[in-house]
Amino acid sequence: MKPKEHPAGVKSVLLHICCAPDASYGVPAMQEKYRVTGFFFNPNIQPGMEYDRRLLVTHALTDSMPFPLEVAEGGEEEWEDAVRGLENEPERGRRCEACIRMRLSRTAAEAKSLGIPAFSTVLTVSPKKDAAMVNRIGREEGEKAGVAFLEADLKKKDGFRKSVETTKRLGIYRQNYCGCRYSLRP
Ligand code: SF4
Repeated sequence: MKPKEHPAGVKSVLLHICCAPDASYGVPAMQEKYRVTGFFFNPNIQPGMEYDRRLLVTHALTDSMPFPLEVAEGGEEEWEDAVRGLENEPERGRRCEACIRMRLSRTAAEAKSLGIPAFSTVLTVSPKKDAAMVNRIGREEGEKAGVAFLEADLKKKDGFRKSVETTKRLGIYRQNYCGCRYSLRP
């Protein structure tokens, strides 16, 4: 599913970027309808070397498919607070909901402070992400912040397969786990 046209005629979006592979499809898909500013805020990525690598390749992606990229550092303690007690939840469970919520909440606040009328995320490119959950969280956080959330399920229309092809063609690193230390468990 390509992003829907927002009824209020929104033209610009602050697009949360979790990683370069998802952005390699999600950014151009969103650019078909909106002016996109990327926003990298992912204090869930562990360990630090992996965070640095994912941020580096996201910067490299902006050379191949130019788009402005904002990076927000910090948030590690807030992330630990958000997921405390949820360590044993499975992927797509309540820990992931808390993790996604804190990242989208920050994206909504950033959109508000930058004067960008809408926000969204490329998280739904991944087949491991529940688009209904991501869109519900986005709607809720958007309502709290007073910023529109653009719903999408970017894995549809072969979004994930296309992201695999693009990352191979561009030689972009593709991680083999979601991000936090719990997703590293065998
Ligand atoms: S598995 Fe992924 S979405 Fe879930 S808590 Fe870990 S980093 Fe966040």
